[in-house]
Amino acid sequence: MSLDPSFLKQLTLVAIGFAAAFLAALWLSLIFWASRDIRQRSRDRFLRILAVVIVALLSIPGFLIYLILRPARTLEEEYQSALEEEALLQAIEESALCPGCNRRIHADWLVCPSCNTVLKKTCKKCGKLLELPWNICPWCASAIPGTRKPTDKKKEEPELDEGFQPLLDEPLDTHP
Ligand SMILES: [Zn+2]
Ligand SMILES: [Zn+2]
Repeated sequence: MSLDPSFLKQLTLVAIGFAAAFLAALWLSLIFWASRDIRQRSRDRFLRILAVVIVALLSIPGFLIYLILRPARTLEEEYQSALEEEALLQAIEESALCPGCNRRIHADWLVCPSCNTVLKKTCKKCGKLLELPWNICPWCASAIPGTRKPTDKKKEEPELDEGFQPLLDEPLDTHP
């Protein structure tokens, strides 16, 4: 049994056709992949075009060159790391300094251990930490005693007078 030479020729032509079609599809998909990939990694127009041109001109070697030279991180990753950096910086800034001695203090300290400056106060009702200027607790909404409120003024004044009276009496007695 002998094969027809013309049939063999046709068979090789079909095989070559398939191989060529496959290579062309591979080439196009490499270009497509590179163009999509570079868009995630760079905003630079020139770089985007350059990447596509290199892969289009040099095909698989060009694709390898692109893989080696492309920006290491995507824009998304860069954005994430920028966010993390910012958060870190903010955390450092927030680990505040003592207004009395400029030493580093923790956010939940009541008093600076170095210079005894009062840093925070606690809510009498819920026990949470409050900033010194606050006159209402943001967690339980109770007013903080000791801060003046127009309605409390009259109640506080007699107490203050009683407290001061004995102290004032003694010096008055010693001085003529
Ligand atoms: Zn201090
Ligand atoms: Zn409270």
